[in-house]
Amino acid sequence: MTQLLIGGEWRDPVAGGRREIRCPADGSLVATVAEAGRADTLAAIAAARQAFDEGPWPRTPAVERGALLHRVAELIARDKKELARAESLDTGKRVVESEYDIDDVAACFRYYAGIAATDAGRVIDTGRADAISRIVHEPLGVCGLITPWNYPLLQTSWKVAPALAAGNAFVLKPSELTPSTAILLMRLLEEAGLPAGVANLVLGAGPEAGAPLAEHPDVDLVSFTGSLPTGRALMAAASATVKRVALELGGKNPNVVFADADLETAVDFALTAVFLHSGQVCSAGARLVVEESIHDELVDEIVARAARIRLGGPFDPEAETGALISAAHLAKVEGYVAAGLAEGAVLLCGGRQPDDPKLAGGFFYLPTVLDGCRPGMTVVRDESFGPVLTVETFTGEDEAVRIANDTDYGLAGAVWTRDAGKAQRVAGRLRHGTVWINDYHPYVPQAEWGGFKQSGIGRELGPKGLDEYRETKHIWQNIDPHPQHWFRP
Ligand code: ADP
Repeated sequence: MTQLLIGGEWRDPVAGGRREIRCPADGSLVATVAEAGRADTLAAIAAARQAFDEGPWPRTPAVERGALLHRVAELIARDKKELARAESLDTGKRVVESEYDIDDVAACFRYYAGIAATDAGRVIDTGRADAISRIVHEPLGVCGLITPWNYPLLQTSWKVAPALAAGNAFVLKPSELTPSTAILLMRLLEEAGLPAGVANLVLGAGPEAGAPLAEHPDVDLVSFTGSLPTGRALMAAASATVKRVALELGGKNPNVVFADADLETAVDFALTAVFLHSGQVCSAGARLVVEESIHDELVDEIVARAARIRLGGPFDPEAETGALISAAHLAKVEGYVAAGLAEGAVLLCGGRQPDDPKLAGGFFYLPTVLDGCRPGMTVVRDESFGPVLTVETFTGEDEAVRIANDTDYGLAGAVWTRDAGKAQRVAGRLRHGTVWINDYHPYVPQAEWGGFKQSGIGRELGPKGLDEYRETKHIWQNIDPHPQHWFRP
């Protein structure tokens, strides 16, 4: 059970804990992995601290750090099939989707490799001959990285790549449900030549293995992607030591369709927006906000197509999407649908597990559409993180914007219209960190990703994603010091 990486050594948990990982699609045993407790995480923090304070990595020139990240990207591409398979077994996700994810993981490492290699501070011309003024970037120190189960390696790479590019050491705690690709990534970092102790891995449950990362004074930043309640708890815990905090806490994302949209395309993307990965996507377009005059036409077509979506396991070539991650998560999604119905929503399709006996061993849930929804309903307000689309209607631009912004979250949203001016006006008024026009879900590592309001703090990806992992310092040097005689000598 040597799966915790602490100070460059693969170790067993102090208390000898272990956990079974089972595939959500059929309950089959995937692996038995180490389960760290508090003591293991404290050891990992100490190892990372030592690697940062005494080791070579923070003082390695940025160009060399970039070269190492490039090697990591190449190793990820080399091992794409193995990584995708491991990801799919842990998550139940179709293996083709995992392969896309692994391509994105490699792209993320390449992106930060590039900016590490070229990014520099700057010299400010003070207009004086006796002083030099420089802006330099420095790593933060030890980063605590806590990641979720929906895109395990991708979410991990969004944190690990910039943390390393900036010269930090880190302790990674992946979701206890999906640890396999984090273990494989640590082996690739070793193979690429990362100095011992810079990358540390603890596997285990949040309150035991994760919580010390938010509390401990030797951790300089906690970067977390996950649920809003956990994010709030981590932010509170981090306040005791005024840690840097980066949070990505999901969204309840509006997909706004105007009557003048290309409806065939809007229907097609509305399905992908919400049912991709069975809705277990932080930017899922789970709220369809549709102009009243096209409600019936649009919703009828969405329902007809949603009812035909084929569910199946990771290696089923016929499957279009997979299972939910766990029994607990399935129960949560069922609870949101029940709450929606109790508050007056109308069930148009789904709303239950499939009948197919082949799917009986997994946590499958049918694509579900709830009509007649209003802002304020539990199922509209909270992130169900499942294959559940709520439908709200509007008339006119102002009401569309008001409904789309009526959420505590602000991660992403989309607007569908053929009117280019209206598209830009509405996009400008949406209080969401990413807004797609006549599209849904695409992202590029060059563009920042992050939320307004309670969707989080800080940005991932893009140049600002790197800035989350470093301090920016102004260094002023008097290069011709002599008495100033501010006061007469
Ligand atoms: P979900 O409910 O979708 O699983 P969580 O926010 O609970 O989302 O989990 C996301 C990540 O946060 C996981 O790695 C999980 O182990 C971790 N986590 C959960 N609770 C805590 C906690 N109290 N302290 C630190 N990490 C936590």
